[in-house]
Amino acid sequence: MEALSVVLVVDDVKTNVLIMRQCLKGQHQVWAAASGKECLALAKQQPDLILLATDMPDMNGYEVCQQLKMDTETAHIPVILVTAKDANDDEQKGLALGAVDYITKPIRPAIVRARVATHLQLKSHRSKLQFMALHDQLTGLYNRHFLAEWAAQHLSSMARHQTELSVVMLDLDDFKKINDFNGHHVGDKILQAVSKCLQDSFRKEDMVARIGGEEFIILMESGMTEAREKAEGVRQRLQQLKPMGITVTGSFGLLVANAQMTDFSHLLVLAEEAVYKAKADGRNCLVYYDNGQYITVG
Ligand code: GH3
Ligand code: MG
Ligand code: MG
Repeated sequence: MEALSVVLVVDDVKTNVLIMRQCLKGQHQVWAAASGKECLALAKQQPDLILLATDMPDMNGYEVCQQLKMDTETAHIPVILVTAKDANDDEQKGLALGAVDYITKPIRPAIVRARVATHLQLKSHRSKLQFMALHDQLTGLYNRHFLAEWAAQHLSSMARHQTELSVVMLDLDDFKKINDFNGHHVGDKILQAVSKCLQDSFRKEDMVARIGGEEFIILMESGMTEAREKAEGVRQRLQQLKPMGITVTGSFGLLVANAQMTDFSHLLVLAEEAVYKAKADGRNCLVYYDNGQYITVG
């Protein structure tokens, strides 16, 4: 069963919270906050939607809404303002502050339920679209577009923080033959299994992306020694993985970017050359680029 979505009801008047609870009962899980401050704290725990009373002592709903929208952790949560007034000015003010909708008291349960349902559905569509824009559909790994964005960000901060960025390129060996022998659908399943293996092999903060048919890039903040160990470990694990009972190997290219190498497309060219050499050296091996030289291991 799908988990109920969480609606955070914010009102200093207990009866109002009770009425909202009654409205949403059975359809949503309800959290309650009795003040703006409490709302800001609970919002960090990621409710799906916030029903926010405008008239509250200390911090009113407009101020709370503004703060929610200014914080990157909570800005994406839809806020519906609930007010006793129905003056146009108030409505405009609320919407200008980033609220998605407006409900006026007295509360009509059917209206509350309908508005909440609409905005939860919009939010879910939005997050699906966002996921699709950043991920590869077949494997769920990050896509080329997000890889480039991530790389640009990290490369520009690298000089400031004196960190290193390792670039690993993986191209599966003889994948065309694997497809030809076993069928494209089996090839797809293998790509999914290989992707899972890559995801399990690297840390959450590393970037694992599928950039083409059977080509992957991994970026991690690490120096050459660690990156070589990691890449070589993955090469061996891949060889033993045997997804769908089929032996799959890969050719790996590796280099470590320093503060002068901030052009990501240039890094990709160097990594690609390392992969070409790995293919030429018999596939299923790792070639790393160091001091202007390509060196084969494995
Ligand atoms: P090499 O060892 O030189 O890399 O040989 P290769 O056969 O892996 O390389 P080539 O570039 O000739 O072929 C890549 C193959 O990957 C061709 C294509 O059928 C397959 N491929 C690309 N994308 C997909 C995909 O999404 N699903 C499946 N099943 N196969 C794909
Ligand atoms: Mg290829
Ligand atoms: Mg290939």
